[in-house]
Amino acid sequence: NFRCRSAFKLLEIDDKFRLLQPGYTVVDCGAAPGAWSQVAVQRVNSAGTGERKDPALPHGTVVGIDLLNIPPLDGAHFLSSHDVTDPATHAKLLELLPHGKAHVILSDMAPNASGFREMDHERLITMCLSLIDLAEKILQPQGSLLCKYWDGILAHKLQGTLSSVFTSVRTVKPDSSRKDSAERYFLARMYRKPIK
Ligand code: SAM
Repeated sequence: NFRCRSAFKLLEIDDKFRLLQPGYTVVDCGAAPGAWSQVAVQRVNSAGTGERKDPALPHGTVVGIDLLNIPPLDGAHFLSSHDVTDPATHAKLLELLPHGKAHVILSDMAPNASGFREMDHERLITMCLSLIDLAEKILQPQGSLLCKYWDGILAHKLQGTLSSVFTSVRTVKPDSSRKDSAERYFLARMYRKPIK
């Protein structure tokens, strides 16, 4: 039983692209109420209860972050009342992650909708751009980032910025996402840390 229907979007994306492997470390941004984390716990086998009940499978790690409270979940560590865009949150994350590194960053974050489409679009794009700073601190080389955005004029800018540090960037619209909504996901794979 999932806490929220959004689980089906991640299941669908992961069935197609196989982002989440047993043993992986996953950071789930905007995790409340925790449905994506439930999927991640199963797929990376962080509670030892993965879909393939094989005791030899490695155990992964799931860390979820949200401004809101996230009810506890076996196999996940949650940073409730934390802002993903705050560098203080990044510092806490570094301590929680094995070797300070994640294989996958997931983000289903969304600001509270103002109802003004352009403004909501811009705010969500700004949040997505902040994930690139987070990636620089915690994402493994060759790691992946899956982030939700609302389509609009700045989507190309985000795509371009992602393409400067990921070898492969594509847009994903899961069947389980409402056809008439502007919701999309960027799936960015093969992270290359920028040389400075
Ligand atoms: N993926 C979740 C699930 O399956 O249960 C649903 C996520 S919900 C669509 C979006 C979440 O993003 C909200 O809970 C909201 O509080 C969170 N959020 C928005 N801005 C955030 C921020 N700056 N830091 C952390 N969480 C944020």
